[in-house]
Amino acid sequence: MGEAVTTCLWCCGPVDDPRLRLRGRVRCPGCGSQTTDPMPSDEELGAAYGDWYRPDVGRFAGVGDSLLRRLRGRSAMRLDEIAPAGAILDVGCGDGTLIEALQARGRRAIGLERQSERADVLDLDISEVEGEYAAVVFWHSLEHLPDPRGALVHARRLLKPGGVLVVAVPNIASLQARAFGDRWFALDLPRHLVHLSDRALVGGLRDSDLVVEHVSPVRGGQVVFGWLFGLVGLLPGRPNLYEAIRRKAARTRPLTPSQRLATLAAAGLLLPLAALAALLESAAGHGGTVYAEARRPIAAARVTTYP
Ligand SMILES: [Zn+2]
Repeated sequence: MGEAVTTCLWCCGPVDDPRLRLRGRVRCPGCGSQTTDPMPSDEELGAAYGDWYRPDVGRFAGVGDSLLRRLRGRSAMRLDEIAPAGAILDVGCGDGTLIEALQARGRRAIGLERQSERADVLDLDISEVEGEYAAVVFWHSLEHLPDPRGALVHARRLLKPGGVLVVAVPNIASLQARAFGDRWFALDLPRHLVHLSDRALVGGLRDSDLVVEHVSPVRGGQVVFGWLFGLVGLLPGRPNLYEAIRRKAARTRPLTPSQRLATLAAAGLLLPLAALAALLESAAGHGGTVYAEARRPIAAARVTTYP
């Protein structure tokens, strides 16, 4: 078991009041984020990212992996449009789908990931990376880092003037996070170490001397799935939709074919409801994920002093 948490991982504010404790995490009254509590040890995290997390054969069954590739292709197009010329760094690049999509557009792109054997993916912490980048991407990865604020500060240092930082994280202030509480899909304990609100993310980017240009409650993806997973999980026997859509090698526990089929059928029936809920929460401005684009200004603001 790791250490008990006394300060917020995002804003460093105190979170030692017992009334702030939730199941597996602690809420920060200052910034509205939550920090996983107790903080998992390196061994616990190693076990939590076992071979099943991202097996070589791919994670998802059926059209899942190809759908994921298509979505990454769209993200690559957007990045290519908003970033100045130069290389792109994808922090927590997973199986490298985004860097491949960027390379296909003629961009130099490298990724950071645990235990990768690819030449364009380095097993490094972002703090160990040097050089100059046109964009740094944290696509559902910032929440996995033990020092997310330090990572933002270093990412800003890596950006060339005019370079962009792109972040997508689950939004703890979303309606789905509130509706499903301890059973919200995107808590993903213990792998997610910090659970950010949209407000906390945008505030952190501004505090890192970046100009926030665009914030979206839908572009970060997973908004419908968060609802669908939650709704299916309310059914008798608490079926786990995430396990059901994964390939056999990517599951944490065995699932009989009939259990899997019943879970997928329930998901099919509940999909319209999940889509409606996602639409409503996004329209209310608090989507299940928050996506932000922030730019390093080309020139630092000049302070004029008069004699
Ligand atoms: Zn905080």
